[in-house]
Amino acid sequence: MKKVVVFGECMLELVSKQGDTLHKGFAGDTYNTAIYLNRCAANVSVSYLTALGNDLLSSELLSKMDEEGINTEYVLRSEDRNLGLYMVHTDADGERTFTYWRQNSAATQSLNLLKGHKVEADVFYFSAISLAILDNDQKAKLFELMGELKGTGCKISFDPNYRPKLWTSKIEAQKWTDAAYAVSDLVFPGGDDHAELYGHMNAEAILQHLAQYEIEEIVVKNGASSVNIFIDNKLDSVPIEPVEKVVDTTAAGDGFNGGYLAARLTGSSHTDSARYGAKVAATVIGFPGAIIDKQALATHVNL
Ligand code: ADP
Repeated sequence: MKKVVVFGECMLELVSKQGDTLHKGFAGDTYNTAIYLNRCAANVSVSYLTALGNDLLSSELLSKMDEEGINTEYVLRSEDRNLGLYMVHTDADGERTFTYWRQNSAATQSLNLLKGHKVEADVFYFSAISLAILDNDQKAKLFELMGELKGTGCKISFDPNYRPKLWTSKIEAQKWTDAAYAVSDLVFPGGDDHAELYGHMNAEAILQHLAQYEIEEIVVKNGASSVNIFIDNKLDSVPIEPVEKVVDTTAAGDGFNGGYLAARLTGSSHTDSARYGAKVAATVIGFPGAIIDKQALATHVNL
């Protein structure tokens, strides 16, 4: 059975509803991908690598992971930090605003807490957010870990999700994102992220930038536009059927990545995997929240 280790931060998610009511959930880019990957690939083992606190909410999240069938062998616990938190506020026009309380979260200490733990994986997946929350010393430790994993034949997979607030400058973000690309085998650049971070305005510009690295498989996502996949020196394009009624675009890219990886790891071609990932993403954006109900997913996607 193939083993995927997904590294990052899952936070408590509070969504404002009517009046003073808040709806509680758990989400975070890499966690969302881990959930969708695990739901879509019964024959793949998915472990989440992170650090939680000893608080009640951290314990609740741990139980959630167990319920979902995510392997928690690499879930570390911090003695003095708690789970990070973010809140989603939707105004009268449907515009969403996100506020984060994550600077001192347990997950920001993940690599320090990992210490002697041995990590084994066939695929190691992380994002620029996973990287951004770490101090420089731990960023270096993460690259050390990935170097060791690569030495064992593990493939590195990366999504350059760009959150400006998590970086001291754009230059800093570019430097580390490029360092991540340099060690990666399968990457999921998003059009919006590359436009904001590098000023790349189309898939050609993204691919031109990535040509300096030896990346086996580049999957360029761009909302409702076609997905472009560069593999074996060839570019393939998979059209996207626009969703008529988009309810909430949160986790579209995360869902796509989870579905794509699930299909790829169970033997599908890159184009079929993109179609499958797109189906997962289209279903995710048809429901509110980052992680939709498993039954809702199953009615639209072959799990
Ligand atoms: P990200 O969340 O990384 O910014 P995108 O917005 O590029 O991701 O979307 C990721 C994937 O979600 C797309 O490749 C596509 O499959 C799907 N998607 C996003 N928006 C739409 C839409 N309006 N209709 C159909 N599919 C969509």
